Order: sequence, then C-alpha cells, then structure tokens
Amino acid sequence: MKELSRDSLHRFLFEGCAVRGKLVHLDQSWRAILERNDYPQPVRRILGETMAATVLLASTVKFEGRITVQIQGDGPLTMVVIQCTNKLVLRGLARWQGEFDDVSFERLMSNGKMIISIENEADNQRYQGVVPVTGATVAESLRAYFDHSEQLPTRLWLAGGDESVAGLLLQRMPEHGVAPAEDFWDRVCLLASTIKTEELLELPERQLLHRLFNEDDLRLFDRLPVSFRCSCNRERVENMLKSLGADEIRGMVEEHGSVIVHCEFCNKAYEFDPIDSAGLFVADLPADDQTVH
Ligand SMILES: [Zn+2]
Repeated sequence: MKELSRDSLHRFLFEGCAVRGKLVHLDQSWRAILERNDYPQPVRRILGETMAATVLLASTVKFEGRITVQIQGDGPLTMVVIQCTNKLVLRGLARWQGEFDDVSFERLMSNGKMIISIENEADNQRYQGVVPVTGATVAESLRAYFDHSEQLPTRLWLAGGDESVAGLLLQRMPEHGVAPAEDFWDRVCLLASTIKTEELLELPERQLLHRLFNEDDLRLFDRLPVSFRCSCNRERVENMLKSLGADEIRGMVEEHGSVIVHCEFCNKAYEFDPIDSAGLFVADLPADDQTVH
C-alpha cells in the first residue's frame, strides 16, 4: 500500500548530550517540483539533495526569514536554486544545458560554487557564504561550508530519489556543563555515515533512528509539516517591472501588445496589458481621486 504524503521534518536530540538532529522526508513537494520540468536523471538527484539540505538548514533559522541555497557552475548543470522559509515553505528549480544521461557530479558541476544566503525579514539583513563545490556530492560541499563558517559543527546525509528525497542533519551544540562531547560527536557521525540511500528514503523516522542509534537515548519531537508553495505575487512582479523603467516597458508593449511575465519557480503567468503597464508608472496619484461619483 502506498503511503500518504510524508512531507515533514522531525527534530530529535540525544538525551544528556550536546548533539541534536533533524530528519526530513519530502515526496509530494518533490513531485510538485518535478512536474514543472523534465529534469535529466543526474540533475534530478542534485536538485533533490539540495532540496533536502535546504529544508534542514531552514529549520535551524531562528527568525522570520528564508534561506536560499544556490549552486552555479559552467558545466552541463548551470544552476540549482532552492529557497525555504523558516516556516518550511519551499520552492526551487534547476537549469541545465545540452543532453546527457550519466555524468559524474564533478563534470556536471564543473567550476561550481555554492552560495548560501540567509535573509532576515525583520531587519532586511542578509548573510551570505560562498564555497567552491567540492567532493562528489552536495553533502560534501556543504561540509566544506560548515568547516569554513563560524557556525556550529554540522554534518548532513542526503538522498535524492525519483519519488522522494530525504536528509539527516546532526549538529553539535555548545556544551553547558555536559560531559565532553568530542568522542560522542565522532561516534554519532560515524554511525550516521553507515546509512544507505534506500534506508534514508524509505524507513519511517523511528525505525531509521533505531537503525542508526539503537544504543542511545533519543528524544524524537512531533513532526513539522513542509510544503511547496511559490511566494510570487503580482505586487512583486510589478516592482520588478518598475525597476526596468518606463521606457523599457513601453518598448515591450509596443513590440508584443502586452507584457507577460512567467514566474520561473511555478510557471504562473502575470499579464500586463497596455493600461496595466502604463499604470505601473502613475502610482503616485492620491488614492482619493479614484472615487466614483
Ligand atoms: Zn511563482
């Protein structure tokens, strides 16, 4: 029997030890992203792994905001971008060039770099970290990011499948009077490294944690739902068009009759006919003048 959607994130911690973890499993939201493009297999895997990683990282964000993980390169895979809010609402896409069936991560991501941005909505602050794409997986590149940043020691294990994607994150917390955790941290990371892709994709949370850490006292918290939804809206598109300037927009209307903008993430079309387009640049009229007598 096929399971219902498990789009969710679970937090857990090791009782009495300064290590916490998260598990993410996505199926419905993963299929929603796959529906929008016919991604070649190797692209799909990287997109899926990046998606699981982004949700795991977003769940560590403590303020109202969002995290964007972007991978750029000059190989066949030119761009992967996944955005996820601290409320675990996500969207994403990948772009590629040419045709290919089976190609290694290194070739696919030639000269790649990974850009991780965290935006805080309240104060409009943006923090950004950039690392070269290294190793043979998304998780290995992220490991380099954590090794070079001043964040808490963090390790990720990711799996991108056809029907679902999943990930496991372990994070070492600052120690407050708990026993030295160096050995413990090494041990749980070693255990986590024994996880197989199929296990990460298929096992329910409790079984998965039992499979890895059956000797440890774990506390598993309630599931948090994760959903796919695009945050695009007409107002944002209007602002983008305004930034292009009146002359540019007038030119587009003269050439095409109207301006149609497609959202890259969800493919929704926003149309601006000649009157809408002209209206973009006369927004400064006092609203009271619009009253009908
Ligand atoms: Zn959209």
